[in-house]
Amino acid sequence: MPSTLNLVSSATDVVTLPGFFDAHIHLRDGEFADRLAFYVWYSGVDTCLVMPNTNPKIFRAVEALKYKEQLELASGKNVNFLMSLYLHNETSVDRLTVANEYGVKNIKLYPNGVTTGSDSGIVDLESFYPIFRKMAELGMILNIHCEMPTSGSTWIINAETMFIPKLEAIIENCPGLKIIVEHVSSRAMIEFVKTCPANVAATVTIHHLEIILDDCVQYTPNLCKPIPKGPEDLYAIREVVFSEDPHFFFGSDSAPHKLKDKRSLQPPCGVFSGAHTASHLVRIFAQAGKLDILPGFISTRGRKFYGLPETQNQIQLIRTSEYIPEMILGCIPYRAEQPMEWKINSFSAT
Ligand SMILES: [Zn+2]
Repeated sequence: MPSTLNLVSSATDVVTLPGFFDAHIHLRDGEFADRLAFYVWYSGVDTCLVMPNTNPKIFRAVEALKYKEQLELASGKNVNFLMSLYLHNETSVDRLTVANEYGVKNIKLYPNGVTTGSDSGIVDLESFYPIFRKMAELGMILNIHCEMPTSGSTWIINAETMFIPKLEAIIENCPGLKIIVEHVSSRAMIEFVKTCPANVAATVTIHHLEIILDDCVQYTPNLCKPIPKGPEDLYAIREVVFSEDPHFFFGSDSAPHKLKDKRSLQPPCGVFSGAHTASHLVRIFAQAGKLDILPGFISTRGRKFYGLPETQNQIQLIRTSEYIPEMILGCIPYRAEQPMEWKINSFSAT
């Protein structure tokens, strides 16, 4: 029944939604990737953009396609895994052209040293403008982790805001380039993105919709980059998402790390929300009384920006008294041991 796909059921204990598009997910590598890929469909997601900061990193189309094949096999479901390449010094116009021909249309930009796996990231952004202009010509998408490395007056709290002039310069010098500001976390960046042309958008995670700095400092499973900030920033994120501003759509940045690593003296950054994507978002939007606008955030706007057709898959969630498990695949999931509130009842592929 395609005409009902983007509507939320009016029944209070049942929610019907289109399959989710997660525009930013980390599915790791090796056997761990197989296990994580299996969870994608069962979390409510039928399309996702997979990040390239694996070990080894994904630099070329051939590597991305091999990874995609692995994920498809492990998923066992008809998930559309969109692939990305890691921008680095050897990224060339030729490599881009080949990637685009093979359907790998996303390039991820990590400024050097800002988060997990960003040690091959780039330093001199301006030298990549020719690459960016070629991407614009080919209709490719640049996904940016918008934070400046800590240095001088830049620190973890203002790292995103300090990146705004760099972003402004890319937009100005590479007209028409599709850009995604990943995991937006500050009021300043939100205000900036709101003023951008339609070829610039931002993704919003589950955790940035509900936690602040205190929740990360007191509990390392919530530690992530960009770090959740103060109540004012949280309010700005919720406000813009609930206002249905077309620049903003869902990307979980689900990034699992094993418990032993999270317990180390230098715990890695990343929140693992990806095993319960639909449950978390229905809970957040239901609590805010905004379920009616959830389809735009988790499916319609992202697919439109990516030039993808609307999904025909339909997902149904029902209320539950179950809890989020304490541990999944050796990792602590987001909101572990807290009430799940909503769970997937059915996910029909068409
Ligand atoms: Zn990420």
